[in-house]
Amino acid sequence: MEYNVFYFAIIAVLFFGYFSDLALEFLNSSRRSHPIPKQLDDVYETDSYNKQQEYEKSKSKFGLISGGVSFLATICMFIFGIFGILDSWISAFASLPIVSALYFFGIIALASSVLSLPFDIYATFVIEEKFGFNRTTVKTYVLDKLKGLALAAVIGGAILSLIIWFIDSFPDTFWIYAWICLSAITVFMAMFYSTLIVPIFNKQKPLEDGSLRDAITAYGEKAGFSLDSIFVIDGSKRSSKANAYFSGLGPKKRIVLYDTLINDLTEDEIVAVLAHEVGHYKKKHTYQMMAVSILQTGLMFYLLSLLVSNAGLSAALGSSTHKIHLALIAFGVVYGPVSEIIGLAMNVLSRKNEFEADNFAKGSSSGAALVGALKKLARNNLSNLTPHPAYVFFNYSHPPMAERVNNLML
Ligand SMILES: [Zn+2]
Repeated sequence: MEYNVFYFAIIAVLFFGYFSDLALEFLNSSRRSHPIPKQLDDVYETDSYNKQQEYEKSKSKFGLISGGVSFLATICMFIFGIFGILDSWISAFASLPIVSALYFFGIIALASSVLSLPFDIYATFVIEEKFGFNRTTVKTYVLDKLKGLALAAVIGGAILSLIIWFIDSFPDTFWIYAWICLSAITVFMAMFYSTLIVPIFNKQKPLEDGSLRDAITAYGEKAGFSLDSIFVIDGSKRSSKANAYFSGLGPKKRIVLYDTLINDLTEDEIVAVLAHEVGHYKKKHTYQMMAVSILQTGLMFYLLSLLVSNAGLSAALGSSTHKIHLALIAFGVVYGPVSEIIGLAMNVLSRKNEFEADNFAKGSSSGAALVGALKKLARNNLSNLTPHPAYVFFNYSHPPMAERVNNLML
């Protein structure tokens, strides 16, 4: 192991990342007993509020333990030069850059899945179960894991092979080709996510005939959004929590409502939630977010091109021979702060977009109905009504409930 500038940068980034997350968690926990904002005082009864507080406590204790274990495991990988050891072990039987990279990342991904499995099982079958959210059967759980691994192997393996090939073939200009390719994949996935990936895990059906369908058709005609693009998904297969989202681009766009949402809300409330999602579409938020993420990919590959040939990256991981996959691991950590800052900017943008979508719903449907829906969803999902502003600033993609309700009631 060479104790060079990259080694110390990696250790510093890992420590800073972990302890800043921890500080935010503590700040957020300290807000738990804070009084509930006035506009939200009808969300919980005393009993259900106590349950919400218990839920928050369980989740935060769990996060503390699982985050701590993950941090310790990661830091040990670097301090004890495990990546270098793994690489020299793989080079005994694989020498081509793509093949050794596939072995290398495959083994790391598998080891990390095995380590996180008990935590994931605990979160689903103990915490979510205890608070009445879990609907996942053991069979669904096992199938989900297997499908997820297979997808990661196929898609991740293909993308990784492509990137390694570009770097190996064009060490100076690869970033342009990798950027173009990954951007094309991003656009393709955004378009076909709902038709290719979602069906592997869930069933999506058009809305059933009835008064809800009529109400939604009437709204769609008024707002200019076709009913053909509205689907109901069997979210109840895994959790009682409800949700709705917008996905896809152009003709492939769709709004997906969870079956749990349809069960929990009144017709007016469902139309208001739908109107919020139509707002995301009308205000072109998907295109905006995609443009930002494509720019960030370009920046990442450009910065990678400046560092990828530097043997110091491999040396920091305990290897005397320079390898592309070792450089990728080291770069992945060193790039962390840049990615954090971009993520922060995207959260700020996303929270602004949520207000815009809310305002669209208020204008084209009903602000009061959306407030009703948000409150019911918060109650059923045991949402936190008093997050710490610093925690919100760094981690929330949506504005806190209190701010959304204030804005809708203006
Ligand atoms: Zn939204």
